[in-house]
Amino acid sequence: MKFIVLVGPPGAGKGTQAKLLEKSLGLPQVSTGDLFRYNLKNDTDLGKLARSYMDRGELVPDGVTVAMVKERLAQPDATNGAILDGFPRTQVQADALEQLLEEIGGRICAVPNIVVDFEELVQRLLKRAQIEGRTDDSEDTIRTRMRVYEEQTKPLLDYYEKRGLVVNVNGQQDIEAVQQDLRRVVEQAC
Ligand code: AMP
Repeated sequence: MKFIVLVGPPGAGKGTQAKLLEKSLGLPQVSTGDLFRYNLKNDTDLGKLARSYMDRGELVPDGVTVAMVKERLAQPDATNGAILDGFPRTQVQADALEQLLEEIGGRICAVPNIVVDFEELVQRLLKRAQIEGRTDDSEDTIRTRMRVYEEQTKPLLDYYEKRGLVVNVNGQQDIEAVQQDLRRVVEQAC
């Protein structure tokens, strides 16, 4: 059971790349952002709870996030593992993931980090706001999401680096070139 943890700041292209990787690896993309948006759209209790955090660009509390991921990873399409996109985002989530992997007999084989510089990220997110109309892509929210990333998620890179799992991938290339680099990383490590 193999897990790939795709990391990188908001706007780095994690979602796009995870979807492409899903096809070539035969492992499902598990995106906590997409799962929350699905709940939002369907107006579930979880969606109602998540909305206030997402609209502000803050993280949804760890407890509900972890519970949602556990449920998702128990689905039959994830029996061989998954590509985790946007999870874990805090040390508490990373610890919960370790515990879960121990329970289900899975392991993280690679943590590709998609690297894009700050100015480029802001430009991409503003453009996405126009195209997709994501309510969490307003300028204020983008700033908050960047801060949340720096404070809560970026430290995870150290944690995974110590375990020798992080490989940087240049995210400032065209989509196909980034995908090729990612595939190479995963083929070597997994
Ligand atoms: P994303 O599509 O990954 O950028 O996620 C959009 C929003 O969903 C984030 O800004 C958070 O509010 C929420 N979210 C996604 N993943 C997580 C997570 N692992 N932990 C907490 N909140 C999350």
